[in-house]
Amino acid sequence: MANYQHILVAVDFSKEFEAVLAKAVEQQKLMSARMTLVHVVEYTGAMYTGEIPLPEDLDLDQRLAKQAETKLQAMIHDHNLKNTSLLVEIGTPKREIVRVAEEQSADLIILGSHGRHGLQLLLGSTANGVLHLAKCDVLAIRVESE
Ligand code: AMP
Repeated sequence: MANYQHILVAVDFSKEFEAVLAKAVEQQKLMSARMTLVHVVEYTGAMYTGEIPLPEDLDLDQRLAKQAETKLQAMIHDHNLKNTSLLVEIGTPKREIVRVAEEQSADLIILGSHGRHGLQLLLGSTANGVLHLAKCDVLAIRVESE
């Protein structure tokens, strides 16, 4: 494999994700790369199709982003990750992951083949989308889910 310098790891906090992280860390060590963990809070406003107008001060996305930041910090601490930073974005996971990879000049994106979206597709929707949109290399770690 090429010698990558900046690995972007897409974290969805699913139970299966631990295996993805373990392999990402292996690669990071092999390549002495730096690593960025990114989680995307799926934009809730866009999913809302109800009749009742949402209160204008609804800052659910911001609160979820704050929680995600805390969880990523805990992940870095608990796994004693070195040379690793974190980012939380709000939007559509595949688009934000690809955008952040470009913005941060990551040369490899690592994600799970499937996450919370299960096995309906050959590759999960995020993995599939990132593979199509990314300008850098993508490593999809095979995830077995029931
Ligand atoms: P999916 O295709 O959504 O089932 O998920 C496949 C992989 O995409 C997961 O194992 C994660 O690596 C990544 N992923 C999914 N959702 C997110 C998210 N909201 N933020 C960051 N990464 C994600």
